[in-house]
Amino acid sequence: MSWREQLKSPGIQVKAPKAPEKGSSLWTKCVQCGAILYRLEIERNDHICLKCGAHFVMPARERLASLCDPGSFVERDPDLRTSDPLKFQDQKSYETRLKESEARSGEPEAALWGDATIESIPVSICVFHFEFMGGSMGSVVGEKVTRCFENALKKSCPAIVISSSGGARMQEGIFSLLQMAKSCAALSRLKAAGIPYVSILAHPTTGGVAASFAMLGDIQIAEPDALIGFAGPRVIEQTIRQKLPEGFQRSDFLLEHGMIDLIVDRREHRKTLTRIFRLLSHQIQC
Ligand SMILES: [Zn+2]
Repeated sequence: MSWREQLKSPGIQVKAPKAPEKGSSLWTKCVQCGAILYRLEIERNDHICLKCGAHFVMPARERLASLCDPGSFVERDPDLRTSDPLKFQDQKSYETRLKESEARSGEPEAALWGDATIESIPVSICVFHFEFMGGSMGSVVGEKVTRCFENALKKSCPAIVISSSGGARMQEGIFSLLQMAKSCAALSRLKAAGIPYVSILAHPTTGGVAASFAMLGDIQIAEPDALIGFAGPRVIEQTIRQKLPEGFQRSDFLLEHGMIDLIVDRREHRKTLTRIFRLLSHQIQC
């Protein structure tokens, strides 16, 4: 083996326990505590380890079902598809990667958005689907986030974005980076109108997503032990040539340093959001 093949990527290392694939073994192992867990039991527990509380990657639709009033979510723009503007190709073509991700995850893109209610409060909500190309943000994801904000402005109802993303999608190059500015422009119009936006940060929220709308919530809520930041810890260590403190870029560290407002267990999100919106309700005309 040549020295080049032994090189390790300095990129962000995602160690979150992934949700077991549908139809896979009935049992799975928690990467945090090593417990052997019954898959259906994890699903019933909002994809949280029953032994140690580790938050597994949660499919977007299950998250919506657990968060919103039953049957209230109405998806918007489900047919938006990328046009592969650069005809990008590395080991595989972008088109092939898209097809494979869709077959594996059952979703056509890395985010979905729509209207819903939470305890009868109307909301405009967008949720990332990490299992589709690492939740990366291309032109479709950016457009969905932007439309979620525009819809909230039009209806004067709160906006919620639940992020879980490795960042901008490199296969779309500058078209991906443009989504950061576009979504933030829509968000600034929402903020100017005094309409609340709650950003929920799941593990991991990094790169261009963390560097744009995900860190601009009026209320920033993180899931326990989520990795949140722009560049990964190993990239930073290699750049500044210093050892980073324990727990750097994790939820507890960010709360301690004032980067987020709350750390909330996924099973408590619905209750927390309801409390926030009721507190702000005198400002909201839904
Ligand atoms: Zn565990």
